[in-house]
Amino acid sequence: MSVQVIRPRHTGFCFGVRDALELTRRTVEEGGEVLALGQVVHNARALEELEAQGLHEASALPEAPGPSVVVTAHGAPPELFAEADRRGLKVVDTTCPLVRRVQHHAEDLGQLAGTVVVVGHSEHSEVRGVVGWAASQGAEVEVVASLEDAERLPWRARRGVVSQSTFPQSRFREIAEVVAGRTGEVEVRDTTCPVVTQRQREALRSLLDEVDVAVVVGGRGSANTQALAETCATVRPTHLVESAAEVRPEWFSPGQRVGITSGTSTPSWVVDEVEAACRVL
Ligand code: SF4
Repeated sequence: MSVQVIRPRHTGFCFGVRDALELTRRTVEEGGEVLALGQVVHNARALEELEAQGLHEASALPEAPGPSVVVTAHGAPPELFAEADRRGLKVVDTTCPLVRRVQHHAEDLGQLAGTVVVVGHSEHSEVRGVVGWAASQGAEVEVVASLEDAERLPWRARRGVVSQSTFPQSRFREIAEVVAGRTGEVEVRDTTCPVVTQRQREALRSLLDEVDVAVVVGGRGSANTQALAETCATVRPTHLVESAAEVRPEWFSPGQRVGITSGTSTPSWVVDEVEAACRVL
């Protein structure tokens, strides 16, 4: 079966994930035990490579100095850095600058408004970090992920609003509007990641203009990959795959145009492999 494959200009790692991985790789190459507080990248093979070199995943800080501790691109709350300092641990901070921007706005609004709404998923490590930065200023913090969550918020005289970096911008704006309706004085700071927004726009544009079926490549545990797949699914049949082995011929008909895009934590070579698998169907 022959299909036409269309790939937008931007796929593969974003600069935040690329730089975080590079710093992690350099730390691992220096030798010694290296612990990552969570997944440094949502891709099994990229992770396996680092693990083969000596990286281990940990869910909490070690008790005593020795290992280097990697804070992932998603960042961490301030109390984690304070505790690591107290224990004398070496911390390698790979927080993406755009996540740090969310943290700074949360901290600032925590001081100014006293109540901060974080639009995002409460179980996501970035959100847990951002909540910590707002709370470090004594602020009340509310996490909302949907319009329904926002509608349940109580009335407050003042609120600040920020977004998880990978939250879809259009949904953030809708939710922020509902929050504003339940608040006397509100300051909304759009902290969505422009790289993610650009990918979603690019994918939608290409889907609407030139594609019959979409294939989104990325980890199922990656928030921005999930959001990208959800966005694509609003306009075209969409399949989320983690690797080329998951591509199925029954998804396509002869002559169809297949659009391939990826989350920001997907290595380019995985996208290349998926593209090749679609081409040989
Ligand atoms: S998606 Fe955006 S915020 Fe997340 S790591 Fe990449 S550049 Fe940073």
